[in-house]
Amino acid sequence: MAVQAFTSSRVVLPGKIGAFAVLVEGQRIVEVVPRNQIPRSVPITDFGDLAILPGLVDSHIHINEPGRTEWEGFRMATRAAAAGGYTMLVDMPLNCVPATTSPEALAVKRKAAQGQCHVDWAAWAGLVPENLEQIIPLASACVSGFKCFLIHPGIDEFTMVNEDHLRAALPNLKKTGLPLLAHAELPGPIDSATEAWMQADWRVYKTYLNSRPDEAELSAVELLIGLCEESGCQIHVVHLSTSKALARLRDAKRRGLPITVETCPHYLHLCSEEISNGATLHKCAPPIRSRENCEALWQGLREGIIDLVATDHSPCPPAMKQMERGDFRSAWGGIPSVSLALSLMWTEASRRGFSLVDIARWMAEGPAQLAGLEERKGRLAAGFDSDMVVFDPEAEWTVTPAELHYRHAISPYLGERLTGKVLMTFLGGECVYKQGSFPGELRGRECTRKTFATHPN
Ligand SMILES: [Zn+2]
Repeated sequence: MAVQAFTSSRVVLPGKIGAFAVLVEGQRIVEVVPRNQIPRSVPITDFGDLAILPGLVDSHIHINEPGRTEWEGFRMATRAAAAGGYTMLVDMPLNCVPATTSPEALAVKRKAAQGQCHVDWAAWAGLVPENLEQIIPLASACVSGFKCFLIHPGIDEFTMVNEDHLRAALPNLKKTGLPLLAHAELPGPIDSATEAWMQADWRVYKTYLNSRPDEAELSAVELLIGLCEESGCQIHVVHLSTSKALARLRDAKRRGLPITVETCPHYLHLCSEEISNGATLHKCAPPIRSRENCEALWQGLREGIIDLVATDHSPCPPAMKQMERGDFRSAWGGIPSVSLALSLMWTEASRRGFSLVDIARWMAEGPAQLAGLEERKGRLAAGFDSDMVVFDPEAEWTVTPAELHYRHAISPYLGERLTGKVLMTFLGGECVYKQGSFPGELRGRECTRKTFATHPN
């Protein structure tokens, strides 16, 4: 297969950005060279002053298939991902039916994904009290790791774990070498706060915020740090919302514990002071907190306490958001954002002095590492998949329903003016998104850790 060069004046490599060329042969990058050293006779695609980033990796997305394609399935989720510059998604084990808590359920998911994917994907397995025996079989079936909830997850097909369950599970998890991802909120503080605010007006965002206090996250993070220390397992805190946990996490990392942390674009872009009454599109758990908290999360990213940014893209049919009632207690919690995440992040990051190198670390390299794909995804380097996103960092645009590309075009970001726009996305050297269209075949495959086996479509 012939080598071709993709080049621009702003190619984003680990630690630097500049005039380079990515030499691609089919699905692999063969070399990255300075722009003036492209071998003769190699055909060149020159993107001028646009940025070329590695295809983004979303390590936290809810695809909902099989079982809940009316919420969203592989086809629409991966389409929106391609439009957002993502080339690799790691699917959460819940909201689909069956939940991904056994090898059989994983097989059903694999079947459902066949021929449906615009970009590559992999699966997290669920860890629930009923499936502690399935940890090793699921690891053998090549899941990326395990996800658990320390609080009720909002649906009935997936159960929460407590400290005892985790103590029982961690020795087997240790054997697998896979990370444990945890939704870090404990029920105690939330139950008592909810009780205390029961009679308040639940159309008011502050009521919902009060019902999920920082303390719930903080105590869960403390528990996880303790279990991490005890077991030596890699533990990953998903969607950290409270900045109050950063000091504890900083300390745990300084002590060398294998704990990693993610946050999401909504915690870095939105703040509670600006959420109107009844605006249930903003409901997620843990909740969006104050402006001051948001700024402190940015500081956590700057310091490297927060390792990565994932979307927690979690769509549902519009009716479940109960927008007419505007009741924050009963509305579904979840914010879809996979098609917007890069622009949301760049809008905020660029005005705080961060560069696209930081963005690539948070949104491609970091998530790839978490999912065990660090030798194949998340970087523009020799031997990696030729997954790229062409991004105009200066473009200013307004979010409309037509730009969302996921199944139900609802979003708390509609009407917002953002900086930076995805123009094209390449998967394995082939264009899968180009300014609103999705050319070519559905070429996305499952891409698993360890063996990097690609399951045939
Ligand atoms: Zn989630």
